[in-house]
Amino acid sequence: MIKRRISKPIQIGDVPVGGDAPISVQSMTKTDTRDAQATITQINELADNGCEIIRCAVPDMEAARALKTIRKGIRIPLIADIHFDYRLALEALKSGVDGLRLNPGNICDPEKVSQVVKEAKNRQVPIRIGVNSGSLPEDLDIKLSLPDKMVEAALRHIRILEDLDFDLIKVSLKAFDVPTTLEAYRKIARIVSYPLHIGITESGAARRGLVRSSVGMGILLNEGLGDTLRVSLTSPPCEEVFAGYEILKSLNLRQFGATIVSCPTCGRTEADVAGLVGEIDEYLASIKKPLKVAVMGCVVNGPGEARDADIGVACGQGKAVIFKKGIQIKVVKEADILSELKKEIEGMN
Ligand code: SF4
Repeated sequence: MIKRRISKPIQIGDVPVGGDAPISVQSMTKTDTRDAQATITQINELADNGCEIIRCAVPDMEAARALKTIRKGIRIPLIADIHFDYRLALEALKSGVDGLRLNPGNICDPEKVSQVVKEAKNRQVPIRIGVNSGSLPEDLDIKLSLPDKMVEAALRHIRILEDLDFDLIKVSLKAFDVPTTLEAYRKIARIVSYPLHIGITESGAARRGLVRSSVGMGILLNEGLGDTLRVSLTSPPCEEVFAGYEILKSLNLRQFGATIVSCPTCGRTEADVAGLVGEIDEYLASIKKPLKVAVMGCVVNGPGEARDADIGVACGQGKAVIFKKGIQIKVVKEADILSELKKEIEGMN
C-alpha cells in the first residue's frame, strides 16, 4: 500500500488537488488557443476520455481573451499557461480560468506581480509554479547540482507568493532526465507542503515517451509523491490521458475503465490472441467503469488469470472457456469468442 505524502489541499475549479484527493489526470491542448472552437472541441474530447483538468498556452492577448469563450464551452477546470506578461495573467483571470501556471519571478516588477496575485486571491484561483530544468534563472549558484538549482528556483517563486500572503500554490519541477526529476521532487517535498504536479518534460513521442514517463512518474508515485499529473507526449492529447490513467492503475492509485490482462503468446498459443486482444481493446475503449478482462492463449496457464478477472477467456484448440468472476460459465467456439465476451460484458454494465 502506497503511503501518500500529506499535502495542503487546494481546489482547481471543482477538482480537489492535494490532501487525500484522488491523483488527478491533466493534459494540455495542442490547438491554437486563439481558435476557441477548435480548442473547445479538443477539450471536450479529452474530457470524454477522462481528462480532469486542462491547460492552454496563452501566448498573447487574443489567446487570453479566447479563454472566456473556451471556459463557457467546456466542463472541466481550465488552467492558463502564462510566461512573463502579467497582463495576460490578469486577462486570463478576467476570462474566468480556474488556475494559472505562472512563475512570478519571471515578472520583474513586484507591483505587477502583486496585481496578479491580488486578483488570483480574490477569485481563489491557485497558481502553479512550474520549474523546467531547461529554463532556470541564470543567477543561480553554479556550484549547485541541477536538482538543487530547480528546487532553489521553485523556492524563489514560492517565497514571492508567500510574501504576498498567497498560499493556493501547486509546484512542479520537471526535467527530461528521470534521476534529476526524482531528486528535485524528493527535495522539494521535504521543504514545502504544497501539492505537487508531476511529469517528465519533453519525454518524446509515444513509445519512448511512455516508457520514460512511466518510469519517472511510477517511482515518484510509489514514493507517495504527486497529487496531479500530466504525461507529456508528442502525440494526440488523448494518448496523454490514457497513459496517465494506466500509470495510476498500475499502482492501484486509481481505477478507471477497462484493464486488459493478456498473455504474451508463445509456442503453446492455440488461438489468434493478438487479434482478439486488439478487437477487445477497441471495444472496451468506451467503457469508463473499472473492469478487468483477461485474454489467455492456452489451457495451461490461461485459466488461472482468466479466473482472476471480472471476465476472462482461456483459449484452447478451436474453442475457449469463458470465466466470469472466477466461475467457468461456458465453452464457446473460437469464432464466437468475441461476440460471447461482448455479450457477457454488456450484461455486467
Ligand atoms: S498463457 Fe499459455 S499461450 Fe499464453 S504465454 Fe502463457 S503458456 Fe503461452
